[in-house]
Amino acid sequence: MSDLAARIEVVQQRIQRAAERAGRSPQSVRLVAVSKRHPAELVRQAHACGLRWFGENYAKELVDKAGEVGPLAGLEWHMIGHLQSNKARVLAGTAAWVHTLDSAHLVRELAKRVGPDRSMEVLLEVNVAGDPKKSGCSPLEVGPLIDAVRAEEPILRLRGLMTMPPHTDDPEGARPAFVALRALRDQHGGPAVLPHLSMGMSHDLEIAIEEGATIVRVGTAIFGERRGRETA
Ligand SMILES: *Cc1c(COP(=O)(O)O)cnc(C)c1O
Repeated sequence: MSDLAARIEVVQQRIQRAAERAGRSPQSVRLVAVSKRHPAELVRQAHACGLRWFGENYAKELVDKAGEVGPLAGLEWHMIGHLQSNKARVLAGTAAWVHTLDSAHLVRELAKRVGPDRSMEVLLEVNVAGDPKKSGCSPLEVGPLIDAVRAEEPILRLRGLMTMPPHTDDPEGARPAFVALRALRDQHGGPAVLPHLSMGMSHDLEIAIEEGATIVRVGTAIFGERRGRETA
């Protein structure tokens, strides 16, 4: 087995065990493999190992890499980084999912670029801890943003909420943010309205799954350390 295949196996086991511990089906948790700052070739190899969803932080890197990787069975690209509205056009034909809608302006801009013949799955990014260094809307903006996305249906399809907790060395430190995201989901119609919670990364995916994550975004544990500066 290659190193990559072995690391993917470990991540899948972590997801499975965490789901079982939480009394959930392992199939209820989907994996986005975060390939930022890793070459297209690794995406192809990870796809050959069975992964289908890949995440990128920058619109340009996503589109360039998607072009290099080319079409592969079931492959879907997820934009997980902060999106500037002037990049919506670039992304529209390539990303199947955007996890980071955080303003009504961005919602309208994205809908304009995606539609009318296509559609896109979208999540609202919420800055639950009110961390001034992080993007995402405030919890109070979730209601109005749900309405803004609904006004753009069926071009945009509202799928849930996403959050990026403040970094803590102890993965337990992320739990309050995950709990808060789930509570917000419950305040705004529950899983019927917002089926997905995108939360949890390499070091805290178990905690996120315990708190209800349906999508975990995992980079380092799959692809290893990233090269270059951490700019996100
Ligand atoms: C980089 C990144 C991840 C993956 O982080 P790892 O710690 O490498 O698993 C997940 N989500 C977002 C938004 C990221 O920017």
